[in-house]
Amino acid sequence: MFKRFPPKITTSEALTAHQLAGLQWTVQHAFDYSSFYREHLTAAGITPGDITCLDDLRRLPFTTAADLAADYPFALRAAPFDDLVRIHASSGTTGKRKVLCYTRKDIADWQDMFARCYELAGLTCQDRVQIAVGYGLWTAGIGFQQACEHFGALAVPVGPGNLELQTAFLIDLQSTVFCCTASMGLLLAEEVQRRGLRDKLNLKKIILGAERSSAAMLDTMRHCLGIDEIYDITGLTELYGPGAGLSCREDNGIHYWADYYILEVLNPLTLKPVAPGEIGEMVFTTLCKEGAPLIRYRSRDLTRLLEGPCPCGCMLPRHDRILGRSDDVVIFRGVNIYPGQIDEVLRQIPGIGSEYQLLLDHTPDGRDAMLVRVERSRNGGGPPDELLTRLIIGGIKHTMLVSCNVELLQPGTLPRSEGKTKRVFDRRCFE
Ligand code: ZN
Repeated sequence: MFKRFPPKITTSEALTAHQLAGLQWTVQHAFDYSSFYREHLTAAGITPGDITCLDDLRRLPFTTAADLAADYPFALRAAPFDDLVRIHASSGTTGKRKVLCYTRKDIADWQDMFARCYELAGLTCQDRVQIAVGYGLWTAGIGFQQACEHFGALAVPVGPGNLELQTAFLIDLQSTVFCCTASMGLLLAEEVQRRGLRDKLNLKKIILGAERSSAAMLDTMRHCLGIDEIYDITGLTELYGPGAGLSCREDNGIHYWADYYILEVLNPLTLKPVAPGEIGEMVFTTLCKEGAPLIRYRSRDLTRLLEGPCPCGCMLPRHDRILGRSDDVVIFRGVNIYPGQIDEVLRQIPGIGSEYQLLLDHTPDGRDAMLVRVERSRNGGGPPDELLTRLIIGGIKHTMLVSCNVELLQPGTLPRSEGKTKRVFDRRCFE
């Protein structure tokens, strides 16, 4: 399956040994070269020699975005400046940017990881890869481009936006792969449809990064652009950047590069591992990152691990799509509710639009009550109101084991925003 950028291991036993060696190296390296990690490890009573098996990972202290902000800008730096060749930065939750340092080897490792994504997506050196994501401090543009060149395909670095130029280059240069956010892919699809350009394109694949996509968006892209293959690429700046994993071609979740990092999925409230298949927060520990290693870095992103071998033949492990942020978790009648689960339920039901709200309240007798407000789809169609309501209630009961009420709304009723839309309103009183 992989000829040029294969995993560093071929069996799960070898993966365990590889991860242990990487964990031991990382803890020693962080202890030796980072004052931040040395202090944190020492405060937790850990010395590098204490790591003798993979379970010892659980003894290590967590690292958070707040740690990066507290020690801005070079918080996790674990290499002398002489060895650093680049920084990238992303916006931080507390207003401070997160700045991450890279050595030459980090850049090389990142290219290898990302090139493996291109290989898994079935690209060849004949492909022309039009890159329509941001350049600059972000990891996106340069990440897609350097890996494309490293892989040996032809990079067409257009950058974000500029639909006119994107369309012109898709036609003139006959680009075969388009890398973008889901919103951009949708805009392009609608533009190509509106101008009747589909037959002039040579587009084969889309690689989506950075943003969650809905089934409706993907359908529009497939239909308007005449393509079959759409891949999601994962990654975050703290973990090199995009290229940390790619969605399976058989749509069985996302294969992630476990030979470069350990992924834990933990209950965000107890910080203990969730049961197999349950949703939890993604926590990352890198195995060979020099400039800014991660030790149990809490990403706040939610997903679940997918068990067992994948029919596509790729032996690297899998996790589900990103299902939201742990900051958004609410407890309802003793059950953890992740808004992403509501997305998951709604996207499987026909006749529903893209917007919804979740209202939590107390009934007069003090019980938790949940109301899901859902817009009907703009295209019309779908089942009549009564059946649609029953499908939503049944889907939520089945997936999240809770009962709710449903209010159906006309398309366009709920507020939109260009940034992050607030969808959960918790009006319960806890005094
Ligand atoms: Zn697969």
